[in-house]
Amino acid sequence: FMKEKENKSPKNKIVCEHCGKKIEKDEIIKLKLKNKKLLNFCKSCIDKIYDKIHFDEAAKYNLDDRTFVGYEISDERYNKIKKLKKDQEKKKEEEIKKKFKTPSDIKKKLDEYVIGQEETKKVLSVAAFNHIRRISEPKKMMAKSNVFMIGPTGTGKTYLSKKLSEILDVPMLTFDATTLTATGWHGNDVDDIIKALMRKADFNFKRCEEAIIHIDEIDKIAANKMELMDINGTAVQQMLLKFIEGVKVQYSGSEINTENILFIVSGAFENLESLKKSNRIGFQVNAEDEENLIENLIKFGMLREFVGRFSAITHLEEHTKENLKKILTEPKDSVISQYQNIFKAENIELKVLDETVDKIAELSLENKTGARGLKTYLDKLLLNIMYENLGNSKIKEIHISKDTLETQVPEIKYKKVEKKKMKK
Ligand code: ADP
Repeated sequence: FMKEKENKSPKNKIVCEHCGKKIEKDEIIKLKLKNKKLLNFCKSCIDKIYDKIHFDEAAKYNLDDRTFVGYEISDERYNKIKKLKKDQEKKKEEEIKKKFKTPSDIKKKLDEYVIGQEETKKVLSVAAFNHIRRISEPKKMMAKSNVFMIGPTGTGKTYLSKKLSEILDVPMLTFDATTLTATGWHGNDVDDIIKALMRKADFNFKRCEEAIIHIDEIDKIAANKMELMDINGTAVQQMLLKFIEGVKVQYSGSEINTENILFIVSGAFENLESLKKSNRIGFQVNAEDEENLIENLIKFGMLREFVGRFSAITHLEEHTKENLKKILTEPKDSVISQYQNIFKAENIELKVLDETVDKIAELSLENKTGARGLKTYLDKLLLNIMYENLGNSKIKEIHISKDTLETQVPEIKYKKVEKKKMKK
């Protein structure tokens, strides 16, 4: 491929990896990657971006320590940058640690976004707290707190994981267990997961190793479901099990250790016996109930070793109508506020009346679509309204009433035309 490029470019010029300019071949500095591939940079770029390449982007380019062909750097400069980088990382870790002195500090942050689900928020806060400690003091070998969430769709399983990763400032990858096929340990799946995770981590090895992986629909890989599908549930669970315990996965010549990745798995587990029977409240679970739940999960088709990898199993409750209404309006990034921001950018005030919020919550409750339904209703409704009104500078306010849900026609208030203009 490189050769082709060289021949095609005029006068044997090579493209600089950084600035994209075509450079004379003998003006090029080559950087050797760990997998022996060479990257080309022009002389002016290399000097400007050396520090950045070597430390911020070393992971991305996967450079061997100081294997530069035709470029020298003093030990002094090298060590200085190296120390700077280390200090930077340490500082960030300390900041996060200082920000979250207790699990309840993390929960308070989650509360700003997530309505209800008190038990799960507590479990996740503890898991996140341990995660922070674990990645900043790897030598202490603290136990990993992977989390197993049980709850119907639209209760916030994905949303909770996403918010947690944002709060901790670690990358997150989320996918459905049904996309896995367990082509054996060295099969493509694990490599694919790592590739996807590296993309989320901006190709930074360290960030990748501290990430959160959320796997939904974990109930679909129960062993008993095997005949229904094209996948071997037991094999997929075994594959994931190793992944969770910690393995070293090859990534462009280097190894990524999955040991410190925080795993959150979730599934609806419809008809799971203990779900029907239990009427547990919050954290008050007795040991017998917990034991029962584990046995039932195993009966359901989860491997004992697999379940054993999760230090906490938590339930998410179906949203009540009150909670659905809150979800629409209260969180910092609620669906309504997201739309309001779109209109605000065009100087239009979007008002969703209380009666409308009430009706949408009712509809999504009737259709058993949980919080996902809320978004669907609003998306459908507002697409047309956005299409017809965004960019219209005469509009002041748009009101979405209960009737608008049926007629699709909102009430529009126009700006008063200024008198001066009228005279003209
Ligand atoms: P699940 O993964 O359980 O199927 P999601 O996390 O995808 O559900 O939820 C869909 C959307 O509904 C989220 O993106 C979020 O906007 C909203 N949502 C769900 N549950 C909650 C909650 N408890 N608090 C606030 N918003 C929620």
